[in-house]
Amino acid sequence: MKFETQVKEIIPRTDNVLSFRFPRPAALIYKPGQYLLVTIKANEKSLTKPLSLSSSPTEKEHIEFTKKLTDSEFSNALRALEVGDWVIIDAPYGTFTFEGESAKIVLLAGGIGITPFMSICRYCTDKRLNIKVTLLYGNRSEKDIVFRGELEALERRNRNLKVVFILNEASDSWKGAISVIDAGLVKKEVPDYRESLFYACGPPPMIQAMEKLIRDLGLPSTQLKLEVFTGHT
Ligand SMILES: Cc1cc2nc3c(=O)[nH]c(=O)nc-3n(C[C@H](O)[C@H](O)[C@H](O)COP(=O)(O)OP(=O)(O)OC[C@H]3O[C@@H](n4cnc5c(N)ncnc54)[C@H](O)[C@@H]3O)c2cc1C
Repeated sequence: MKFETQVKEIIPRTDNVLSFRFPRPAALIYKPGQYLLVTIKANEKSLTKPLSLSSSPTEKEHIEFTKKLTDSEFSNALRALEVGDWVIIDAPYGTFTFEGESAKIVLLAGGIGITPFMSICRYCTDKRLNIKVTLLYGNRSEKDIVFRGELEALERRNRNLKVVFILNEASDSWKGAISVIDAGLVKKEVPDYRESLFYACGPPPMIQAMEKLIRDLGLPSTQLKLEVFTGHT
């Protein structure tokens, strides 16, 4: 479904990550984990990018995407967007979805790869699904963690949800894991990992590391679903 819409709300998440919200058309049906194509104008040109929906289908009033901003033309045009500005959205796309197909899932997020998992975690919590969800969320440093407060709030609401923040570098006050997402960490945090379906999302090097992780755990590649954040679909 392709439609023109106006920015309803812009929410800063970290120093370089913004969420953009738009009114949800009643006819837009999507699954948690799917993505949209957004088109914006920059210097008289139209620029289009795929971006995961960070909102959940249970949120009826709005849809949301969340973008890590760089120096690219597209990011600069997004940075300049204001509430009320027009964009074109084409959605939904993708098969990286979860609606309760497995009783136990492990979500492996690298940096901005958290976005489809935000949708899935919001969905499982709002729907009160009896699904065991473990989110292993890796970032470089504490200031890079997107959605930290909301993930902690979801964890309090949903006793089946466990969120593990993993940092590459941290100050002495950090009480969480300082590590990378590897087989040792999975065995410690998810003792029943053998019966779990794994999802991984992030930039290409992170995805390669997660494919290796599944091999290191001795699991078949069919137990891992992937979403790679490249520049094109
Ligand atoms: C299915 C799917 C879902 C996705 N979901 C998300 C999501 O939820 N959130 C998200 O943030 N990303 C997501 N992505 C990735 C997204 O589509 C972009 O490719 C990515 O965010 C990079 O965008 P960019 O603004 O850096 O632009 P790009 O044009 O892709 O730029 C790539 C790199 O080149 C550099 N660059 C480009 N142009 C210039 C320039 N003129 N000067 C200097 N440097 C330049 C940028 O700094 C950047 O490092 C998704 C991708 C896919 C395929």
